Amino acid sequence: MFAEFFENLKDGRLIGLKCKDCGAVTCPPKNTCNQCGSRKLEKVLLSGKGIIKSYTVTYIAPMGYEKEAPYTVALVELEEGPWIVGRLDLDSQSAEKEDLVGKRVSVYAKEMPTEMFYPDKSKRIVPYFKIEG
Ligand SMILES: [Zn+2]
Repeated sequence: MFAEFFENLKDGRLIGLKCKDCGAVTCPPKNTCNQCGSRKLEKVLLSGKGIIKSYTVTYIAPMGYEKEAPYTVALVELEEGPWIVGRLDLDSQSAEKEDLVGKRVSVYAKEMPTEMFYPDKSKRIVPYFKIEG
């Protein structure tokens, strides 16, 4: 399910799981509903749009990713409810200067070089957010 999530993300589709018991949407996909813990989940296509709730500029990246710093990591609330983490498609200086909380974004994916510590040695898909308007 997790591999499928990234495959779809690479093609511009964001997939979540809708709970048949409580109706909540879980994203990224897990075995159980984020809201009630139910396992009766069905795959749904999400809009990929949401709002920035918080973000931080990372200057010191984890081992293996040093070349990519600085980058901005954002927490986004999707239209369908779940909160997801990804990188912001914005240079770190602008991210530091502006207040981006509440801005509308859409999610897409970038294929990045795989790293020593990354589980998938063939490819690495990173979720990115683009600020709209
Ligand atoms: Zn549920």
